[in-house]
Amino acid sequence: MLPVLIAGAGPSGLTLAVELARRGVDCRIVDKAPELFIGSRAKGLQPRTLEVFEDLGVLDAVFAGGAPFPAFRMYSGKEILWERPLHEMLGSPLPRRTPDVPYPMPWLIPQWRTDEILRDRFEELGGRVELSTELVDFGQDDDGVVATLRHDGRDEHVRAEFLVGTDGGRSFVRKHSGAGFLGTTWESERTLIGDVRAEGIDGFFCHMFTGGDLAKRFSLWNLPGSDHYQFVAAVDPDDEPELNLATVRKMLDERSGRTDIRLFDLRWISLYRINVRMVDRFRTGRVFLAGDAAHVHSSAAGQGLNTSVQDAYNLGWKLAAVLGGAPESLLDTYHEERFPVAADVLDLSTTLHHRGFRATLAPAGSSPAIHQLDITYRGSTLAVDDRDNPGHLRAGDRAPDALLDGGTRLFDVLKGPQWTLLVFGGASAGDLGPGVHVRSVSGVGGYEEFDGMFVLIRPDGHIGTVTSDADRVRAYLTDM
Ligand SMILES: Cc1cc2nc3c(=O)[nH]c(=O)nc-3n(C[C@H](O)[C@H](O)[C@H](O)COP(=O)(O)OP(=O)(O)OC[C@H]3O[C@@H](n4cnc5c(N)ncnc54)[C@H](O)[C@@H]3O)c2cc1C
Repeated sequence: MLPVLIAGAGPSGLTLAVELARRGVDCRIVDKAPELFIGSRAKGLQPRTLEVFEDLGVLDAVFAGGAPFPAFRMYSGKEILWERPLHEMLGSPLPRRTPDVPYPMPWLIPQWRTDEILRDRFEELGGRVELSTELVDFGQDDDGVVATLRHDGRDEHVRAEFLVGTDGGRSFVRKHSGAGFLGTTWESERTLIGDVRAEGIDGFFCHMFTGGDLAKRFSLWNLPGSDHYQFVAAVDPDDEPELNLATVRKMLDERSGRTDIRLFDLRWISLYRINVRMVDRFRTGRVFLAGDAAHVHSSAAGQGLNTSVQDAYNLGWKLAAVLGGAPESLLDTYHEERFPVAADVLDLSTTLHHRGFRATLAPAGSSPAIHQLDITYRGSTLAVDDRDNPGHLRAGDRAPDALLDGGTRLFDVLKGPQWTLLVFGGASAGDLGPGVHVRSVSGVGGYEEFDGMFVLIRPDGHIGTVTSDADRVRAYLTDM
């Protein structure tokens, strides 16, 4: 029986495929489209996603294919009203690289390139994305899922132990599994988005041509390593624009009052209403949902793709562990940990959407953080902190990077599919088996509070348990 069938080869499906493949778990990933999605869509990678991508072995390619997130430049006609970096727009201090945060800034890269990089990594690990292959039906029993895949004009029946729906906002898997998709659709706002080439604009920015009037928003984002720009335009709810280049040109002309910018070579265009919705459950038996299939929201805070990647990063090691013999209850912690994160992301993106691009700066400290470094699973059953008075860093939190003795980065030690036990002085934990890397450390900046303790770090870089008792570490690991 196939261990895992993944339906949908966007960022969440591809991340999951890489996670499974690097653990030697056989999976099939199918997509109904004949090619990977060609649009630039989600173009901002958040700092935590860069850390995840470093672990997956794709960060160099992401850096080679992107650029630091650009500043925003507001025009009135040809006059430049202001230029502001993202952190100023958010009212945050300039993020700086520190030993605990190696990649403090968001990174600009068109989504089609991120998808290609993940696809290439999956292929490097021996996998293959099956395109023009649609999941059209499935059912499940106690032992597995039977799925029907339609390709080459015929139906193929596949039996798999688990099915993961990473099939986007209109997810067939979600609907067919019976999961609720709760929330609202913002009927009064629509957005036109796409990729187009442009002449007559200087500089590498998010160019905004509407003097701050959100209802008339038209922006053109430079895309690194590409002649195309991503345009984003607010559309009146009663308008029914034709989806073609003439429409985009007319909007720019009317809203910018400029005739010196020439748009051409429209590569992709889409008109959409914002939905703010999430599932009531991430798991139905042997069927899981991840990415947009589980949550959709405004793109304002640049969280969509990033949250999708982290869903897959959370689920991948758990599926591999259960397929390797861990109790199936481990899979319940996927919903337990990712459901609250999705709810927070809906709130965060709604808050920043309504704030918009104002001429006045956001007051210092008024914006929620968008970097996703603070996502924690503290309330999870997998977070076990034995201390009477847990400190600043607790079980469930992301284990920050740090410099170890000899200048090694902690993230280089954590890299890979294994668990890592950090031993901060005191007794030895003994041999914990091949899936656990044990490392004795001392005097590590950021980890001072753990003197004399064991800190067990999960394969997804979150702290599993903090204890001074080696037997507790062993007991914790017996369920993994
Ligand atoms: C028009 C648009 C603009 C966006 N702009 C932004 C933005 O500016 N910033 C931002 O952060 N986010 C943006 N997003 C959101 C972001 O693109 C998503 O969060 C991200 O793509 C989610 O990844 P995913 O893998 O979950 O789903 P997707 O990338 O949507 O991938 C789903 C895949 O599943 C496939 N599929 C669907 N049904 C089936 C089936 N039955 N069988 C097989 N395959 C199937 C589809 O062909 C698709 O390839 C935008 C989304 C859209 C739609």
